[in-house]
Amino acid sequence: MNIMKQSIDLLIINASELITLRGFSDRPATKDDMKKLQIIKDGAVAIENGKIIDVGESEELKAKYTAENEISAHDKIVLPGFIDAHTHLIFSGSREEELTLKLEGISYLEILKRGGGILKTVRETRKATLEQLVREGEQRLSSMLIHGVTTVEAKSGYGLNVEDELKMLEACRILNEKHVVDVIPTLLAAHAIPQEFKKNPDDYVELIINEIIPKVAERKLAKFNDVFVEKNVFTIEQGRKILLAGKEYGLIPKIHADEINYLGGAELAGEVGAISADHLARASDTGLKTLAEKGIVGVLLPAAPMVLMDYVFPNARRMIRMGVPVAVATDFNPNCWVENIQVAMFMATYFLKMTPAEVITSVTINAAHAIGLSHEIGSIEKGKKADLVILNVPSHYWINYRFGVNLVDTVIKSGQIVVENGKITKNSR
Ligand SMILES: [Zn+2]
Repeated sequence: MNIMKQSIDLLIINASELITLRGFSDRPATKDDMKKLQIIKDGAVAIENGKIIDVGESEELKAKYTAENEISAHDKIVLPGFIDAHTHLIFSGSREEELTLKLEGISYLEILKRGGGILKTVRETRKATLEQLVREGEQRLSSMLIHGVTTVEAKSGYGLNVEDELKMLEACRILNEKHVVDVIPTLLAAHAIPQEFKKNPDDYVELIINEIIPKVAERKLAKFNDVFVEKNVFTIEQGRKILLAGKEYGLIPKIHADEINYLGGAELAGEVGAISADHLARASDTGLKTLAEKGIVGVLLPAAPMVLMDYVFPNARRMIRMGVPVAVATDFNPNCWVENIQVAMFMATYFLKMTPAEVITSVTINAAHAIGLSHEIGSIEKGKKADLVILNVPSHYWINYRFGVNLVDTVIKSGQIVVENGKITKNSR
């Protein structure tokens, strides 16, 4: 009988639940569909050349394939690799002293006004060499990987001039080539007004439009163009100009929208055709309706209101009811140093009231939509990249029920086993 079997690279069998999330590659899951994980009990996945070639029940796949490597996921669940769709991966330095300031009641925007916050990280990142940024990024990526993340969106935004924004995105490019985790780059030159443009912010907007965007596009260093639209940062008008200018160069718009103050960021996302609107803690119903109508992903970052200590969380239940496709991400940055996406996941359940099933959808297929990769990753379907995570729990109901420990047993990246028994076995390509 063996003669009839097809020889393949890797076969995963006996998963108590194989969580496929199939059927949402063309459009993100919304409303009740966010709970439809499309589970196969006693599931199996066949992998060849880094791709998923078959998905089904263990008996069926065992009869069809013989594999060089076989993994039994008995009593464990198998999911698509987690996608962290909003991070500020690259920066140098740290801001641990601000935690105490915040506890003394000094707000994030006040710290920024005093030249701290983002501006401190800008000073330290400008000083750092490209090699240093890559080295620091590598360590963070490995830490994310060990927690089940196989793809990371990474923003610039601590250079705030031509040279250093390019340096940050160059670091992303090198990391994407070196590290097993895929790094999807976003230009966020509009992250803060640099100190030297404090008196004439519009001149910085002109610099972004006339110099930074063209250079980034010419060197193909970013896929997305993001703007921090916020009081004392960038206005709606400035955000609109920057996002439309990026579009002319093929950069897809993203927005930090309505995080600390309501300015109409979600509405702007609809107007410029953004792929995602992120944060949304103060978004209006009109804004949310726009996101739902246009299928723009709302990327929710539950750790952000916690580290800001204002505890105003986005209203995920309302968004899901309205039909906004919801994703969840870490917002990893020097003010929110969380490398473990499972923290954002458990917060999504306990602070945003999202069910374990909705949370899984939010860090897999919907997160893939937020970064324009829904046809390559985010679900376990034939033809997709073999990015998978095996968790040490018997059913998906255990996700966010058991928390505070790393649930990851195994990570498979592009068909290769890169984390085994919770330890990294391979992190460079
Ligand atoms: Zn952010």
